[in-house]
Amino acid sequence: MNIAIILAAGSGVRFSTGTPKQFITLGGKPLFCHSVEAFEKHPDIDKILIVTLERYIQKTQTICEKHSYDKVIDVIAGGATRQASSYEAMQYLQYVIGQNDIVLIHDAARPLLPQSVISEHLALAQKYPGVITTIPCTDTVCESNDGALLSKNLERRVLYQAQTPQSFRFGDLWQAHQEARNNHHTVTDDAQLLVEKHLPVAMAKGDVHLLKVTTQEDLTLIRQWLKEMGKRS
Ligand code: C5P
Repeated sequence: MNIAIILAAGSGVRFSTGTPKQFITLGGKPLFCHSVEAFEKHPDIDKILIVTLERYIQKTQTICEKHSYDKVIDVIAGGATRQASSYEAMQYLQYVIGQNDIVLIHDAARPLLPQSVISEHLALAQKYPGVITTIPCTDTVCESNDGALLSKNLERRVLYQAQTPQSFRFGDLWQAHQEARNNHHTVTDDAQLLVEKHLPVAMAKGDVHLLKVTTQEDLTLIRQWLKEMGKRS
């Protein structure tokens, strides 16, 4: 079984509107609906679990009913961090799915998810315990210890930007999450938890359009891309 988890429990502190960014209207529907629909449409995705802010659970359920999403099994409350939200999803799923089932964790804030990315994930997840979506870094990335003076430039040839989805065998990720929680260990994405346990994480080819909405400028760009995609299809 293949289960998509949509992480939509961010409060959007870096995004300057009253509404969390995942609920802003994009192309006539709330932004998170685009991610849900990418997984609804894919023939090999069986179920979808949505993780959102406690105060948005009812609204999210109503939106899902309105759009007749039939793969959405539940809408649950997330935690204070992305890691905690992902943990809540794992905790819920332990009673619903098996150790070898595949979970695909996706940021609701990345609305333009191509079907081909989901397909590549499902293929790689048959061979590897983890799969991450990446695109090569086109800018040189540099490091500074004090934010004032440059410490070093990193070797661009080996650098990639991480995107989502990230996919895992449920048993491996749930165990890694529990260990991290017991050790008060914090990470910014799920793949890091597996890498730290020396489990192989394969790289699926990402897409420049899979941009995460962080600022108003990102949203403007995504609106433009969505319009162009509409024209092409
Ligand atoms: O904050 P950031 O944009 O990096 O979050 C990435 C994704 O994780 C977003 O879709 C956001 O809604 C989700 N998230 C979450 N729970 C949190 C923080 C972020 O589900 N506490």
